[in-house]
Amino acid sequence: MTGVNEIRSAFLDYFKTNGHEVVESGPLVPRNDPTLMFANAGMNQFKNVFTGLEKRDYSRAVTAQKCVRAGGKHNDLDNVGYTARHHTFFEMLGNFSFGDYFKDRAIELAWNLVNKEFGLPKDKLLVTVFAEDDQAFDLWKKIAGLSEDRIIRIATSDNFWSMGDTGPCGPCSEIFYDHGDHIWGGPPGSAEEDGDRFIEIWNLVFMQYEQTPEKRLDLPRPSIDTGMGIERIAAVMQGVHNNYDIDLFKALIAASVNATGVEAEGDATGSHRVIADHLRSTSFLIADGVLPSNEGRGYVLRRIMRRGMRHAHLLGASEPLMHKLVPALVREMGRAYPELSRAEDLITETLKLEETRFRKTLERGLGLLDTATEGLEAGGRLDGETAFKLYDTYGFPLDLTQDALRTRDISVDTDGFDAAMERQKAEARAAWSGSGSAATEAVWFALKEKHGATDFLGYETETAEGVV
Ligand code: ATP
Ligand code: MG
Ligand code: MG
Ligand code: MG
Repeated sequence: MTGVNEIRSAFLDYFKTNGHEVVESGPLVPRNDPTLMFANAGMNQFKNVFTGLEKRDYSRAVTAQKCVRAGGKHNDLDNVGYTARHHTFFEMLGNFSFGDYFKDRAIELAWNLVNKEFGLPKDKLLVTVFAEDDQAFDLWKKIAGLSEDRIIRIATSDNFWSMGDTGPCGPCSEIFYDHGDHIWGGPPGSAEEDGDRFIEIWNLVFMQYEQTPEKRLDLPRPSIDTGMGIERIAAVMQGVHNNYDIDLFKALIAASVNATGVEAEGDATGSHRVIADHLRSTSFLIADGVLPSNEGRGYVLRRIMRRGMRHAHLLGASEPLMHKLVPALVREMGRAYPELSRAEDLITETLKLEETRFRKTLERGLGLLDTATEGLEAGGRLDGETAFKLYDTYGFPLDLTQDALRTRDISVDTDGFDAAMERQKAEARAAWSGSGSAATEAVWFALKEKHGATDFLGYETETAEGVV
């Protein structure tokens, strides 16, 4: 079996042998990019190189990039525990050409790696291309020898990448692996594409245009940006369907089983998976300097942590759990990411403190949730007032409440939640009236609107970012 750590090395070595500079992962909190909440793709750290603002002394690079997709344009938080292929934290393996090689070489490099080096059989692979990209279609036929029915033309934005409203953009091509007809799902472009039978493993972006406010120009020296989820390719190479069954996750889940005494079977499986996933994102975020708070990045971290803690509670943990799993994570990933080992104490202490605090309100909050939803059937809806009370008094992020009700198919009245939030703000405003000059109040409210302790605006402030 090829473990995750070996796959990472094999990928980096392969591209190094093919003339690429091995570059370290950028941090999860991007430097110089306030538009991006967390690094979510390998290309993030090279954004200015692609636009030409920055020069490097290499024109080809390869990385294993730490990514978090739990907020902003890419939010996979609600997928975790429900699909076989999504994590909040994952590693994206990628090779990059900055005006060096282009489409033909990119396809050749990718195909040789998956088919020859990694040994994935041709009859399990299929690819997509952007509908108008005849060049890519022909190259897949020629280089990989794929038959035409295995090269699927997709006309949607799924296969057209752009950095933002303006800037570099271009068609992309994705490689999918067919895990077999015993799993529900259809090929990309079909009605069942959201299933987990055909899993996207690698996305190749061909940056060949420059979008200006007026028109789309051909780039004189087009570039390449690719991204492959290491956990997905590991699943394929280890002969398992679900990412959570690869060596790395098996080790983390074993630690969770050991600490709770609950086997990863039946309903408990999902909780162990969520805990293992959230342990990774939480730990890596803390190692990169994010601490739990009530706003911005810190609130995303807090939401992930608390979701994990609810699952620990579901497993019957009677004391803080997640901090006990940190050593297993450091064992699995500390060598590749030394910052994780360096921050081990901080991660452990932060988790323990947050868990200890949240446990005090978690149980009572869940009690209130039970009472409030007692009479509700599947398809029912929890009122916004209660969801707000859970948020305001018991520290339940809205998405935690939604997640808690999901298995019962009960939704939350989010408009009602927003209205309750607004009402509370208005009441706070009213309570301040007469307590000083109008000017002072205006300043105070401006500050509260901007930095409000419980108000999270992170989602709205994010704009341009990479897909791959
Ligand atoms: P999907 O359609 O499966 O959600 P995506 O198209 O959003 O994937 P890209 O943005 O193309 O993903 O990212 C490049 C690669 O990173 C994907 O091909 C996949 O291998 C991996 N990847 C993306 N999102 C995740 C995730 N949440 N967890 C694990 N791997 C991921
Ligand atoms: Mg996605
Ligand atoms: Mg996709
Ligand atoms: Mg993709």
